[in-house]
Amino acid sequence: MPAHDCTPNSSWVIQANSEFTLRASVPIQSGESITQLYSQPTAGTQERQVHLRQSKFFDCTCKRCLDPTELGTFFSAIKCPVCPDGYLLLETPTDVLSNWKCDNDKCVRVIPEVFVEDVLERIRSDLLNLQNNSEESNSGQLKSVGVIEKLLKTHQGKTVHPNHYTMHTLENELLQRMSFVLSSSYLQNGNEKDNIADRMVQLARKNVTIADIIWPGFNRHRGRLLYFLQQGLLIPLNRVAGQKRAKKLPANKLSELKSIFEEVLQTRKTVHAILSIEPAGREESFIANMMTENSEEILNLRKIFKN
Ligand SMILES: [Zn+2]
Ligand SMILES: [Zn+2]
Repeated sequence: MPAHDCTPNSSWVIQANSEFTLRASVPIQSGESITQLYSQPTAGTQERQVHLRQSKFFDCTCKRCLDPTELGTFFSAIKCPVCPDGYLLLETPTDVLSNWKCDNDKCVRVIPEVFVEDVLERIRSDLLNLQNNSEESNSGQLKSVGVIEKLLKTHQGKTVHPNHYTMHTLENELLQRMSFVLSSSYLQNGNEKDNIADRMVQLARKNVTIADIIWPGFNRHRGRLLYFLQQGLLIPLNRVAGQKRAKKLPANKLSELKSIFEEVLQTRKTVHAILSIEPAGREESFIANMMTENSEEILNLRKIFKN
């Protein structure tokens, strides 16, 4: 059984016939331990510590847990209530009741755990409200997009760090809903579509960068983020192709779109490689199957944007 690490180097899948597949998610050197995650990678240090202590009966002392910045991601950092620029970090990350200390050298204020708990409680209740009031329909999903954007505006950089894990969760919720709306023919307004696609690309890139640090390589979470990335990138390409405008574009615009298409092809290859081991019937397996190079959409774009 692999050892635990909050930045694991392997990931696993249980197939429909109950077969267990363990796969290296990043290159593993000979002699290096194979590690697996026995908690939620997209939780903050305190949440992981509590979970591991309660369910697996140990305190994790991995690199990510011992670093109050979580490897520079600021995944658990809370906005300092005293100074304008500082963020509160855990003073003793492995202590679940640790105080928090401002990282601004001119402030260094120590704040008790209860303050942070209060901030997180407010965000958790916003998240719960969101999950309880979401409707499945296209209009419902689009409404949730607005609600989530508002929540992000309220909290990002104001109560918590923009990369905080609760924001990571919200941004993933946002990506899923945007993906749902873009997959349907619900949106007729091209500008509205473009705006959503741009935002998807921005959010997917940001969260892939975070995942590359705390949950790198071949795992479901990164596979899904990269799927959202290619979906957003495809929108402007399809628009140009659909309106048969490619020939009229200035050379620099066309070459920009060609390089976007190149990125789409590469990203789809990676998504397929990551998600193709998922068991049939799972949404991820469905996504992997969609990433074929022979889809009508890709073949059509290839004619226009491939050199
Ligand atoms: Zn850890
Ligand atoms: Zn401060």
